[in-house]
Amino acid sequence: GVSIKDLRKSYGTNEVLKGINLDIQPGEVVCLIGPSGSGKSTVLRCVNRLETANGGTIEVGGFETTDPEVDIDKMRQKVGMVFQQFNLFPHLTVLENCTISPVKVLKKSAAETKAKALKNLAAVGLGDFGHRYPDQLSGGQQQRVAIARALTMDPELMLFDEPTSALDPETVGDVLAIMRRLAQDGMTMLVVTHEMAFAREVADRVVFMDQGIVVEQGPAEQVIANPQQPRTQDFLKRVL
Ligand code: ATP
Ligand code: MG
Repeated sequence: GVSIKDLRKSYGTNEVLKGINLDIQPGEVVCLIGPSGSGKSTVLRCVNRLETANGGTIEVGGFETTDPEVDIDKMRQKVGMVFQQFNLFPHLTVLENCTISPVKVLKKSAAETKAKALKNLAAVGLGDFGHRYPDQLSGGQQQRVAIARALTMDPELMLFDEPTSALDPETVGDVLAIMRRLAQDGMTMLVVTHEMAFAREVADRVVFMDQGIVVEQGPAEQVIANPQQPRTQDFLKRVL
């Protein structure tokens, strides 16, 4: 699981996270929603130390990611991240994209990692695409590679930052289906998304953020269908 306590982050004088508290139980799926600029990506980026917090603590997989002394490579092994813009290595094949970090950074066995990567590629429907390069794939296929790559690290937590926002509408469903299956298989997931239907169906809990604070949270059915806070109501009126 994850435990975020009083997380604070500023850029200069702009305080973008004003004390975020968020616990995620093992196997729980939490969807993070909120307007543009509310701080959703910043929360995810602090969890795997792409950003350094200014205050508060984050514990994940036995690591305190906010600790300045934390072994960032080891910590990131526990935390898979999937971005809006795929972020595959363009000069590496699909299979190499999946194996490079476990082998080069974590010093895992090349043969074992390759077998695991092929299994994960098959699970996202790309078992025959290992030899291709990212620019030979559709956006949806690239995003499925990004998911397979993250899974090849054996993470305890998967972070998704608007994984379907850059995709053609006809490929969105494939990626959401894979995320749904991952959730059913018991992966702990923190998902920033504008896909309210997905959140409603898959999330155990929905967290609504605005202006750097958690305004409201609860079961998806409650927060999305019957929001209590005016700011949540306003936001949902605009996106639903
Ligand atoms: P969106 O839905 O548009 O992705 P978001 O909720 O993910 O929005 P963040 O990207 O977390 O929002 O940004 C929160 C605030 O922090 C915004 O005001 C943004 O301009 C600011 N911000 C984010 N990254 C930086 C940065 N590297 N330097 C300065 N300001 C930043
Ligand atoms: Mg964002």
